[in-house]
Amino acid sequence: MAYKPYNSFAIAQTQFDGAAEILGLDEATRDLLRQPMREHAFAIPIRMDDGTSKVFRGFRVQHNAARGPCKGGIRFHPQETQDTVRALAMWMTWKCAVADLPLGGAKGGVICDPHNLSDREQEQICRGWVRQMARNVGPHTDVPAPDVMTSAQHMLWMLDEFEGITGSKVPGFITGKPVSVGGSLGRMEATGYGVIFTVREALKALNVRASDTTASVQGFGNVAQYAIRLYEQLGGTTLCVSCWDQEEQVSYAYYKKDGIKIEDLLSVTDRFGGIDKSKAKELGYDVLPGDDWLGQDVDILIPAALENQINAGNVEQISPRVKIIAEGANGPTTTDADIVLRDRDVLVIPDFLANAGGVTCSYFEQVQSNMNYYWAKDEVLGKLDTKMTAAYVAVSEMARKRKLYMRDAAYIIAIDRVARACRDRGWV
Ligand code: NAD
Repeated sequence: MAYKPYNSFAIAQTQFDGAAEILGLDEATRDLLRQPMREHAFAIPIRMDDGTSKVFRGFRVQHNAARGPCKGGIRFHPQETQDTVRALAMWMTWKCAVADLPLGGAKGGVICDPHNLSDREQEQICRGWVRQMARNVGPHTDVPAPDVMTSAQHMLWMLDEFEGITGSKVPGFITGKPVSVGGSLGRMEATGYGVIFTVREALKALNVRASDTTASVQGFGNVAQYAIRLYEQLGGTTLCVSCWDQEEQVSYAYYKKDGIKIEDLLSVTDRFGGIDKSKAKELGYDVLPGDDWLGQDVDILIPAALENQINAGNVEQISPRVKIIAEGANGPTTTDADIVLRDRDVLVIPDFLANAGGVTCSYFEQVQSNMNYYWAKDEVLGKLDTKMTAAYVAVSEMARKRKLYMRDAAYIIAIDRVARACRDRGWV
């Protein structure tokens, strides 16, 4: 089992404590918000393909539902822990609040490794999870979604089980469904486009034209690809992207001095966002060590791969030219590196704001599913732009007025909104 040097829930609580202090929250509100409202931990017994039985552990943590039904993904992971799920549930509450979605935060998980499970066994886990949780989830209480190692197919199995138990058609029970069965158009684009909507607003505030800027991106998966596409449409030039090389088990960065061509590069990329090194060379790309994406002399950095990628060990490699870091990934910057960026006055668009386009589009899917009426892609993306822009402007205004770092401003807005809802309901 991989060694985890930190506990995500402890980190989430520390971040909360800092914001609670700035907001001057009373003791009862702090007590309420630094813990989940409700937790479920349960067994999922499965008949395996070889005829044996196996019991998997499942979780659902509902952190806070003061602003609306809970929302959050279900992860399948061998190293899943209840504390990781608790932290992610709390972060979902803040992410929904900063995007001003009428939703609370939740997260679920099952300790399992889908690499070692057949489709039938995974289907049984999905159905077992729903049988255990059916009385405590639903379109008006808690709406799950895909996450690490779960897909549209898993969501459809879960929906089918839920509809079987409730004896009704309730597509709004879950999001991330296939577009053919109640999914939303625009979900593929949503997170990457959302990142660039916030970058566009940041550039406006700095009075810089996108067409005068260059960017370097870590990752070339869903978030990165759509972020690069929209950035290119705005006139920006991406000089470098990096990705994981599955064969060699290292990362590489791909550089072109006049800018990468997204369609070229996509033609040599697999479905996991891995670029074929030799084919990229044939297309004229320089192949550099993976970490080189960070030290590029560009205006914008977009970490869109993994957590803890900008840390105390490499933050000094960031060029003095970098003005904006838009965190597409969750948790790409460590706390110590964050202090350096703050001192250098880099405009960091924090993860739970920059990548909120995903959950915003999931919310749109929930709304469409509850109406059983579906919007055109342009309508979805237009609404996404409106929501993301409003969220960015609110955070940026707060940062300017109270002279706060963007991350702190985002936390303050999110936690204040949730605390107010709790108070207004008379909970504290
Ligand atoms: P993805 O699996 O589609 O792509 C991941 C990319 O990262 C791939 O190109 C992979 O090669 C690359 N990568 C992996 N390890 C790397 C390394 N060490 N160095 C460089 N590149 C590496 O994932 P995604 O959906 O694009 O998600 C990326 C990040 O964004 C994750 O942190 C995810 O939690 C976060 N996020 C995604 C969404 C969404 O809607 N997809 C929403 C919110 C947040």
